[in-house]
Amino acid sequence: MRTRRSSPRSQVQRELATSERFRTANEIYLALADRKQRVSLSTVYRTLTMLAGSGSVEVVQLPGTGQAYRPRPPEPAGPYLVCVGCGTAATVPAIDLAPWFRAVATQQGFSDIEPRVELWGRCTGCRQGVSENDSHV
Ligand SMILES: [Zn+2]
Repeated sequence: MRTRRSSPRSQVQRELATSERFRTANEIYLALADRKQRVSLSTVYRTLTMLAGSGSVEVVQLPGTGQAYRPRPPEPAGPYLVCVGCGTAATVPAIDLAPWFRAVATQQGFSDIEPRVELWGRCTGCRQGVSENDSHV
């Protein structure tokens, strides 16, 4: 039987689109392997790095696990509250910190500021020992 193989890039993008959680390259690799998609871990890494560079995925740095990725939502990204256990992300309601960031940056002689705030914590599910790793949107 011949099946049409899609490019690693579109396989990774399709997998990313299945969840709004931040996931590591390894998690995405394992999810693809689960669905019998043959993409090597190094290809997943390379593809994620490229997608991050082009701005179509967002990257956060999670303590312990390293970089985690998810598709960039259509609305501009706000400060994130990210669960270190499962990568679930909540957007922190907009208190406008941008003017303060700009003021601080200007004092230091910086311009073209892109404010970015990440808050780490543990979501309710992870605190109660319930894994949300298998949940899909
Ligand atoms: Zn969690």
